[in-house]
Amino acid sequence: MAKRKITLIPGDGIGPEVSLATQRCVEATGVLVEWEIVNAGSEVMEKKGTPLPEEVLESVRRNKVAIKGPVTTPIGSGFRSVNVALRKELDLYACLRPCKLYPGIRSNFQNVDLIIVRENTEDLYAGIEFEVGTKEAALIVEKIKELNPKARFNPNPAISIKPISKSASQRIVRFAFETAVKNNRLKVTAVHKANIMKSTDGLFLRTAQEVAKEYEGRIAFEDRIVDNMCMQLVQRPQDYDVIVMPNLYGDILSDLCAGLIGGLGVAPGANIGDGTALFEATHGSAPKYKGLNKANPTAMILSGMLMLRYLGEKEAADRLERAVAKVLKEGRSVTYDLKENRNDPTAVGTSQMADAIIAEIKSGEYVPAGR
Ligand code: NAD
Repeated sequence: MAKRKITLIPGDGIGPEVSLATQRCVEATGVLVEWEIVNAGSEVMEKKGTPLPEEVLESVRRNKVAIKGPVTTPIGSGFRSVNVALRKELDLYACLRPCKLYPGIRSNFQNVDLIIVRENTEDLYAGIEFEVGTKEAALIVEKIKELNPKARFNPNPAISIKPISKSASQRIVRFAFETAVKNNRLKVTAVHKANIMKSTDGLFLRTAQEVAKEYEGRIAFEDRIVDNMCMQLVQRPQDYDVIVMPNLYGDILSDLCAGLIGGLGVAPGANIGDGTALFEATHGSAPKYKGLNKANPTAMILSGMLMLRYLGEKEAADRLERAVAKVLKEGRSVTYDLKENRNDPTAVGTSQMADAIIAEIKSGEYVPAGR
């Protein structure tokens, strides 16, 4: 069997630990992988002057499939977010975050099995920002007043621009419907604030309605205003299936949905473009746990499972998911955050939880995955 070449970006903080756990679990499924390890983040910045060296982008472009540990973005510094930059540079326009509640995980909810699809390339995340007190911010304000005499500003505002385009809305909504088709899902819900932002979110909603017509009779469609959606999700998450959103709402709602299924430690993700995909957990680098062998590796291991599915390795992905589900259900060899009492001395470390998952993969005695 030929080896699959996959780019691995270990990240920083807890990234290298959860990445190693994931590498070991993926290898245990029997899929032959040649990992091409490249580094990004603040430590690389000190050596190479950029947190995202060209060789990282080249590696992902060449291999077309990558998996990445979290990378720290210091708040308020000039440091560019490696995570946002990777998605933009590689045009990974769709962020896919399945939120499935596995048996054994403590949650206030039951039967949660949602798929969040977030647009990754535009909205307030486009990075078009003007700092408070700058000439540029003042010029933008003047220009807006000229174009729209009704526009009112408080003195000296900082400005962020929210671009939403028809083409990006079309491709993300189509991606959501195709995800529904591939995963035998029944409904797509588009989330927006079109009642207030009639131009931007209005365009997103109108485009979603148009795309939905292509799937009429096969996949149901509905829309929800984002604030209402937040309430609905914490009251009746079972009512939803695939949810598609512009970038900012998608960022917020994916963490909300991670909360429904047991927290960031178990929430996997993927960033997908046309022909290229980068898999990563929803969580960040949790710097306070760096090097302590304490972080929960599940989110990253399940991201590895999504990667195997993307590669067409269905059987290996199923085996990995079943093994994770069994370890979670038993609740013995799990990290501190999955124990009822976070100070439970029986909690295991990152690498020991990976050992337990690997032992399950190899034992072949499985419980059904998922709900
Ligand atoms: P975080 O996800 O790192 O941490 C939030 C909370 O969840 C913390 O209490 C943390 O200890 C806990 N946590 C996270 N992952 C865990 C795990 N695997 N096991 C156990 N507990 C876990 O979010 P944050 O504190 O907002 O961000 C820290 C840094 O990570 C920031 O620099 C942020 O920009 C970056 N970040 C990176 C990514 C990414 O690389 N894709 C995503 C989000 C945040």
